[in-house]
Amino acid sequence: MAALFPLFADLHDRPVLVVGGGVVAERKVQALREAGARIHIQAPALTPALQALADAGRIGWEPGTFRAGALDGVWLVIAATDDAAVNRAVADAASRRRVLANVVDDAVLSSFHVPAVVQRGELQIAVSSGGGAPMVARHLRRQLETWLDDSWGALTALLARERRRIRARFPEPAARRRFFEQLLAGPLPRLLRQRQPEQAERLLADTLDGPVASSPGSVVLVGAGPGDPGLLTLNGLRALNEADVILHDRLVSDAILQLARRDALRVEVGKSAQGHSVRQESIHALMLEHARAGRRVVRLKGGDPFVFGRGGEELEFLRTHGIPYEVVPGITAAVACAAYAGIPLTHRDHAQSVRLVTAHCKDSLDTLEWAALARGRQTLAFYMGVAGLETVQARLSAEGCPASTPFALIENGSRAEQRVITGRLDGLAETARHHQVRSPALLVLGEVAGLAGTLHWFGAPPLAAPPRPDYLPVPKLPHAA
Ligand code: SAH
Repeated sequence: MAALFPLFADLHDRPVLVVGGGVVAERKVQALREAGARIHIQAPALTPALQALADAGRIGWEPGTFRAGALDGVWLVIAATDDAAVNRAVADAASRRRVLANVVDDAVLSSFHVPAVVQRGELQIAVSSGGGAPMVARHLRRQLETWLDDSWGALTALLARERRRIRARFPEPAARRRFFEQLLAGPLPRLLRQRQPEQAERLLADTLDGPVASSPGSVVLVGAGPGDPGLLTLNGLRALNEADVILHDRLVSDAILQLARRDALRVEVGKSAQGHSVRQESIHALMLEHARAGRRVVRLKGGDPFVFGRGGEELEFLRTHGIPYEVVPGITAAVACAAYAGIPLTHRDHAQSVRLVTAHCKDSLDTLEWAALARGRQTLAFYMGVAGLETVQARLSAEGCPASTPFALIENGSRAEQRVITGRLDGLAETARHHQVRSPALLVLGEVAGLAGTLHWFGAPPLAAPPRPDYLPVPKLPHAA
């Protein structure tokens, strides 16, 4: 189902119809009155409170049952009766007239939902579960109630009053954002919490009158991890929240991008194993352009920025151009994929070292030291395009790596679509073909890969090599002399 579109409606002095006159209707009327709506009720009878409002002329009342004509000219209708047939009639009539309708406690009949709301002055936080689980929304609302003290209302009012001055002082959106962030991180909220509104106002005025601190742009190289947003670090999350511009790789998952500041400019500069879609020089140029304009740039990379991520080249470039930078490490694919496949990379019964190896293109495959890679008691983690598997199998076998060495191929590690495929070195390429392994995939080779079969915990259990006769070692025929 499509997501609901959230909106805050200005109902001031606008006609709204409420069908029903019981306690539920009473609650809705109360909320609508706070919004300044012109309320008209249609119901056979009213609660005493509603009756009092009607008698005082604060709301209109038409005694009787629902009549579709009452929808003429209204902006919204709320059906709050306990009669399912009436509620449905309201919803149907409203839908024919293109009037938004809410049927209390009926998500299916409603064309708009009323969220659970936390209010502090003009500040309102609305929570919706899409109508499916109102209890979740209410529960969260209660938590927010305890978390947000009254001073949020005062803060909102103060900044709303000073909005023009602030805009005039900081016409550029990025500078204005930084001003707000500094202001909100400073003593202002505390003064309001301590009920010292005059001091708060003075502080704001002083800050606005003071000299503008010119803030140079910067670049933060952030490792986004392998996909699961829970594997982003707290520092990474903070950088994403403060970013003006995010230059991200294609491998970075949507779930992580959704954690970033909504109004940050996002640019995909991703490279896939196949095509270099944006050249490294263009990425450098983009970082420079935005940082020089005073913006905070996050260069967001899959995994860790320094593990096969060209983070080094980017820092060299930034240093040459005098742009300040920071690095936030990320969980690299080998570490994450191993964890999510149940492969302890250096289980002491099996391995004393791990090698992170890149096998992305022919060049990198050709220059590897295969003899060293073929030795025992180590774990190899190949970051690679899937096309290199034939070569890996052939070269390692040629250097004497046993045919029975276990491997695990982890595709989309840590993501919902994760697949783990296990087997022996002599079936590597064939097994990958059989299961149609696609990028991004990581190859773990070594005794520890065999533990995935028993230690797996995430997603589906490992898929094994297909049982085919040509997987059996070819028997050596005695040479005819
Ligand atoms: N800087 C990244 C690696 C970039 S190279 C890191 O530290 O992880 C890209 C390669 O990483 C892919 O070809 C694949 O081999 C591996 N990779 C990245 N994310 C992966 C994932 N979620 N599952 C499996 N492999 C992944």
